[in-house]
Amino acid sequence: MSTRDLETKPVIGLEIHVQLATRTKLFCGCPLEFGAEPNSRVCPVCLGMPGVLPVMNRTAFELAVRAATALHCDIARFTKWDRKSYYYPDLPKNYQISQYDLPFSSDGYFDVPVGETTKRVRILRVHLEEDAGKNLHDNPAVTLVDLNRTGTPLLEIVTQPDIESADEAYAFCTELQKLVTYLGVSEANMQMGHMRFEPNINVHITRDGVVYKTPIVEVKNLNSFRSVRGAVMYEIERQIQDWLADPTYTLENRGKENRGWNDTREITEFQRSKEEAHDYRYFPEPDLVPVEISEAWLAELQADIPELPLDRQQRLQDEVELSAADAATIVGDRATADLFEAAIAAGGHGITLGKQFISFWLRRAKERNTSIAGLGIDAERLGELSRLTADGTINATAAARIAEHMLDSADTPMAIAQREGLIQVKDVGQMQVWVDEAFAANAKAVQDAVSNPKKQQRARGFLTGQVMKLSAGQADPKIVGELIDKKLAELAAG
Ligand SMILES: [Zn+2]
Repeated sequence: MSTRDLETKPVIGLEIHVQLATRTKLFCGCPLEFGAEPNSRVCPVCLGMPGVLPVMNRTAFELAVRAATALHCDIARFTKWDRKSYYYPDLPKNYQISQYDLPFSSDGYFDVPVGETTKRVRILRVHLEEDAGKNLHDNPAVTLVDLNRTGTPLLEIVTQPDIESADEAYAFCTELQKLVTYLGVSEANMQMGHMRFEPNINVHITRDGVVYKTPIVEVKNLNSFRSVRGAVMYEIERQIQDWLADPTYTLENRGKENRGWNDTREITEFQRSKEEAHDYRYFPEPDLVPVEISEAWLAELQADIPELPLDRQQRLQDEVELSAADAATIVGDRATADLFEAAIAAGGHGITLGKQFISFWLRRAKERNTSIAGLGIDAERLGELSRLTADGTINATAAARIAEHMLDSADTPMAIAQREGLIQVKDVGQMQVWVDEAFAANAKAVQDAVSNPKKQQRARGFLTGQVMKLSAGQADPKIVGELIDKKLAELAAG
């Protein structure tokens, strides 16, 4: 039978680990350094030696509260630590310090833009835990263990299963990256493994009025947004197909299972059926005191939260009349959004500045593998370029050329425009000369523009381009267009 006879509803929740931007580990003073010599950033505490005592990193806790507050979570005034026991070579203590029944925060939500709408995803809980080390399998003969990462502070964010598609899952993860970098909670650098994703996916299938639920699959350890989208998309389809092939493939019969994502083949592969919480023998960590949050401390932390990305995006849409997509792009990087607003404050022209950010500034930033802010051009010059373009002193083509020069010099846009002869010509007589010249040199295009309906549009565009070329980009394209239309009308009238 085909899927057309079925009603299918994907049900997706996410578990996300975010590495906090602290200098040191969660329970000891070892520095967090990516790429350091293996096992060089360790001490008796994070190595789990007998008799040592962990001490909580207060900054990690504060960053965690900041993130949870921005996710609209309730912050518990009393929270404790628990041991999650399991045996694995990268976990020297044989337990991980985490939070089980009393996480520091719960019951929040996160509004995520998906296309033109906003999806609200409820947050079940946010808690803190320490990371394990890393097993290295580079040499096929042996497995080596690097414990530098052991004890790294991680925020674990668990959503309710409110997500209904791969696109929504993707949007949630990318928007979360934006949020945590805005808050300064995490660098959220994907290459350094600062964010890891584990989607839980199943499908509710309705046939003849009966609802069947496929087993809940947790896809382990995804480390890119692309793999999140790929894994969710693949799982939805696979689960429907497997259920169609075998109607006993249900949550009731099979329970939950873990699968891994094969990035090369773009499929998920079965790993094992999933353990329940009791397998970990959680119990309260006796070496750490519970954390009690005073109202004063909480108020101080909450006062410190900046305007959030989605709010800022909405404000820029309203104030500067940017499109949602353009505003999202600019707001995507906090320093770039700050620069954008500083350029407007310095007298920039909002809409034009938005266009210039999205067109050539973004392109140059991508070429140089940085953000627009990373290009290092000050707000005053960016503002001036947009103002000169908006008031017609230079045209858009000239603006792009001036921008090129701005990348390698500290000259003002006006100085560059004068030096390079890019001030727009307003002299209609001069423009008429260029138009006549272009018509004389391109008889075929003129003929098409006058009498070939199929080629009319393109021929007219071609002639405009020729005039702009003759003027070395200095003609006002609007006036040129008017002169061309007038001349074509005269020719058509014979
Ligand atoms: Zn240590």
